[in-house]
Amino acid sequence: MHNRLNIGCHLSAADGYLHMGEEALRIDASTFQFFTRNPRGSKAKEINMDDIKALIRLMDTNHFAPILAHAPYTLNPCSADPRVRDFALMVMEDDFRIMEYLPDNYYNFHPGSHVGQGVEIGVDLIVDVLNRTIKPEIKTTVLLETMSGKGSEVGSKFEEIQTIISRVELSDKLGVCMDSCHLYSAGYDVVKDLDSVLDEFDHIVGLNRLKAFHLNDSMTPFASNKDRHEKIGKGTLGLDAIVRIIKHPKLQGIPFYLETPNEVEGYQEEIRILRTAFGEN
Ligand code: FE
Ligand code: FE
Ligand code: ZN
Repeated sequence: MHNRLNIGCHLSAADGYLHMGEEALRIDASTFQFFTRNPRGSKAKEINMDDIKALIRLMDTNHFAPILAHAPYTLNPCSADPRVRDFALMVMEDDFRIMEYLPDNYYNFHPGSHVGQGVEIGVDLIVDVLNRTIKPEIKTTVLLETMSGKGSEVGSKFEEIQTIISRVELSDKLGVCMDSCHLYSAGYDVVKDLDSVLDEFDHIVGLNRLKAFHLNDSMTPFASNKDRHEKIGKGTLGLDAIVRIIKHPKLQGIPFYLETPNEVEGYQEEIRILRTAFGEN
């Protein structure tokens, strides 16, 4: 195989954008994920144009795949509390503004938890936030992440993801980020029957919407509706199943992002293992 696997991991944004690009290069990654702000969702750091331009140059020179900005995971666009929803709206608006400095990359968010209001109301509220924040001029693709279904999470079923997408006016700016740990926990058997999972996704959502893939092993059994990431090959998915994901013909070209419980050196080792398994020399 002559293709290079597009793989990276979650990196800390604390030392700026260029630093993340340099870290990625150092560990043989060709992309990375980062939080736009700390998990509590406080104010994003001021934009340093020189830093961003330097990252874009590094990405061009080294043929990076799109990088993935991740919304704070505490964001909940379908909370029952209007203040929490307003906060989600404000953060997403501000994040989309920042993403304009990084055009043609991706922004990923968790659809949210309906906290007892029911999936239908949850979906209504998510659609409302997306319709109010996704403007015609934005150049980023906004990805909904497939969730494990813990608690009252929306987005653990492909049908829910599709309902949201179909009701957003500017839906051409929407895509999906799969997460292997979440899929398995949600009852999609990516270990025994990856083909069927991808076929089902294709029928309900459409594989053309799939833009990114979080690659994680899981600490918990199939269909557990838990969300506990494990190191690659150390969990209930196992290395073989994860290698089948990165090698699947329908997933070629999709960038993979590790969110395993690791420091940077652990990510470096997982990237090495996966590049070797993919057939790179
Ligand atoms: Fe996530
Ligand atoms: Fe994830
Ligand atoms: Zn997760």
